[in-house]
Amino acid sequence: MAKELAVVCGGGGFIGGHLAKHLLAEGKYRVRVVDIKPPQEWYQRFVEADNRVLDLRLREACDEAVEGASVVYNLAADMGGMGFIENNRALCMLSVLINTHLLLSAKAQNVTKYFYASSACVYAADKQTKSENPGLREQDAYPAMPEDGYGWEKLFCERMCRHFYEDFGLEVRVARFHNIYGPEGTYEGGREKAPAAVCRKVIEAKRSGKHEIEIWGDGHQTRSFTYIDDCVEGIERLMKSEFRDPINLGSTEMVTINELVRIVARIAGKRIRIKHVDGPQGVRGRNSDNDFCRSVLKWEPPTTLRLGLEPTYQWIEKQVRNARKLAKAPRKPVRARSGSAATARA
Ligand code: NAD
Repeated sequence: MAKELAVVCGGGGFIGGHLAKHLLAEGKYRVRVVDIKPPQEWYQRFVEADNRVLDLRLREACDEAVEGASVVYNLAADMGGMGFIENNRALCMLSVLINTHLLLSAKAQNVTKYFYASSACVYAADKQTKSENPGLREQDAYPAMPEDGYGWEKLFCERMCRHFYEDFGLEVRVARFHNIYGPEGTYEGGREKAPAAVCRKVIEAKRSGKHEIEIWGDGHQTRSFTYIDDCVEGIERLMKSEFRDPINLGSTEMVTINELVRIVARIAGKRIRIKHVDGPQGVRGRNSDNDFCRSVLKWEPPTTLRLGLEPTYQWIEKQVRNARKLAKAPRKPVRARSGSAATARA
């Protein structure tokens, strides 16, 4: 009998790339990977997957993406770190088109299970005003006062998933990710998140011999960071569960941003001075409460920050080294080609 089909939307991105790799290695499903980016920009690409370039804001593209699928993972969104989401609220909110059309297509094509990637940015601002945060429980998202733009979009989409189950019987699973980090993700260009940005800045400081990096704010703002392998395992455990409400998927190892820098500096083997500058900081303190996670998934993310940052730092260092080599290499003249056709299949 032919295997069922799983579709990873946003699979050219960080988390989607790791999830596609996991699904292919597991071998239970045929895997289709969909992303709007040209394939050469995907972090990971697998020849054994059915790779497609589609703009999932469009309903007809969503129909094509989920055709024949049993399981759909929606990890596609226009997003980035705090610097990006605070300055691109409209763009972030437009990702609502992706989830709306994917849900409609999933319903029309009788998909059996639908995963939605939500975020800790749905939590109400008044529960995150102090650096010391005991952990955000799932009910702390209401009364609603989420991160403007990005957080509102995530909260709205969570509710849309809930009502697609209640009104149409579509089986939905929703995880609220808390700062996922790891190799094969964005580390430069303005969309990178704190762990990758700090790794890159420390690498640059080490190379330049300056040994100083800039951090937005006083560095006492707190977060917990979740390693990518734990994120993928959490998604899969949630998909196997019967739990349809949004659930935290995050580490409870809360650190200040200053502590994050110190851990990365130790991995780099360098003393790093921190220069505090003005910049977007988001909420003052955020941590995950994992009571639900432990009772529903019989598990919680186990990887310590020190352990997860090691491979993350090594991977980013390799990218920076390769980019420098490429920039130094003599350029070969390129002959201009006319009429090169763009193909939709990656
Ligand atoms: P990412 O930016 O690396 O991946 C998202 C992918 O979606 C990108 O490759 C992008 O090209 C693709 N995409 C955007 N618009 C699209 C469109 N119209 N059609 C098709 N593809 C489109 O981000 P990520 O870190 O892998 O995040 C995946 C999901 O998890 C997102 O929904 C994000 O909001 C959520 N999330 C991530 C984190 C985190 O820390 N990384 C935290 C909370 C929530």
